[in-house]
Amino acid sequence: MTVGVLPSFSYTTQTEQPLQKQTTSIPPLPTLSALQVTQHAYKGRCYTAQTHIKAGDIILQENPYAVIVDSESWTKICSNCMKEPVAGQPQNSIICECQFVTYCSETCQQKDSLHQLECKFWTDMKILMQKSDSTISSWDGYTFDFTRLLTRVLCQYIFEQKEQERNHNNNHNNNNFKSSNFHHVWSMVSNQDSFSQNQKDLFLSISSCLSVFLVSYALPAQQMSSQFSWPNESQNRSEYPLFPLSQTNTTSTVIKPTTTTPPPPPPPLPPTTQSTFPLDQYEAHIPYLLELIMKEECNSFGLYTFEYTGSKTHRQPFGLALHPQAIFFNHSCSPNAGYVSRHGQLIFYALQDLNPNDEICISYLPLEKDNNASSIQRKEYLKKTFFFDCDCERCNNPHFDDTKLSNNLCFVKDCKGWFVPKSISTVNPSCTSFKDESKRWYCEGCGFERI
Ligand SMILES: [Zn+2]
Ligand SMILES: [Zn+2]
Ligand SMILES: [Zn+2]
Ligand SMILES: [Zn+2]
Repeated sequence: MTVGVLPSFSYTTQTEQPLQKQTTSIPPLPTLSALQVTQHAYKGRCYTAQTHIKAGDIILQENPYAVIVDSESWTKICSNCMKEPVAGQPQNSIICECQFVTYCSETCQQKDSLHQLECKFWTDMKILMQKSDSTISSWDGYTFDFTRLLTRVLCQYIFEQKEQERNHNNNHNNNNFKSSNFHHVWSMVSNQDSFSQNQKDLFLSISSCLSVFLVSYALPAQQMSSQFSWPNESQNRSEYPLFPLSQTNTTSTVIKPTTTTPPPPPPPLPPTTQSTFPLDQYEAHIPYLLELIMKEECNSFGLYTFEYTGSKTHRQPFGLALHPQAIFFNHSCSPNAGYVSRHGQLIFYALQDLNPNDEICISYLPLEKDNNASSIQRKEYLKKTFFFDCDCERCNNPHFDDTKLSNNLCFVKDCKGWFVPKSISTVNPSCTSFKDESKRWYCEGCGFERI
């Protein structure tokens, strides 16, 4: 299948656009020498190779825009550095009073300024969860995790707006930004027509909670109630060049709630600073929050590791994150790239040699299922979870049986690990891409090395 490269959609390198020329809060552009974003006729935007890439090369490393440790793992992993509390010294870990996050040290607790903005809200949510008549008492663990990721996204956006305001007042630009900002999150697709009515009803109840969070907790705490604004629809998106827009799928018309019934009343959380609840303010955020919820649902990544229960079981999920650069990897049941999560960061690597303009695909299926599932099982899962009909080479060709994926399975007895490039264990976390000259691979589960 030919992939049409539109030159205007490639990344610009830092040399072409020096940082000192920036006058607004645009994050510095990453140097992605290996990848370019290409517009595909059917699939929308996708990543293609910009140069020759060798198997084992790191093609992208990305820090999350927002990340949480999930409800199964929160007592085991530090919510700031995403590492296990120092082995042998679990008494050093600090459990936050909200009982949603743990830190490995006081330093990590102090550094987690996002949580300081959401802690009181989640403390109140915990109380509400235990009341059997509340809407949220029926939420499952994933819904809480998902909503917690959203409060962190909102905190991050509030801090960005604060920073922008400060820069504006001081008439200077502080380049201390992450690799992406909220506008990159907002340019993600929301697939708003693909969700079932049940899902939309759940999203409406999540948006009610999030609106209470904004109006009664986060914004008053930051004295931002009147200044906070959602991205301006008419804003020229070329201001945010990290993610060039396709013409088709990123028109971000804010949707209206589609149910015929009005939104449910806000949950009875105790407002922190106001004695009466400002219903008009609360309702104004709902359509934007619904849009944001759908964007997150379509684009968040689950984080997996072998670090906590070892290599005799499959990779264990431990968190949920948004990585706005990583969303351009399309799916293939015969992927030519793999990825691992390292403490919240995602690291993508080539599974095979790639030529310029080759589309680079990962598998959206969990690795262990990917290898054995039948075409019908894979297609069903992908349609249900990601709303597309897979037409990859493997699904289209009944005789396509060698995915070469099994070459990556560790052959140590009982190990459920996969081989990943050795450089992943040593590569500098601030690099965005990396050529692996050593060509060594090691098992992510048990550490066994092979050439
Ligand atoms: Zn820590
Ligand atoms: Zn807390
Ligand atoms: Zn497929
Ligand atoms: Zn192994």
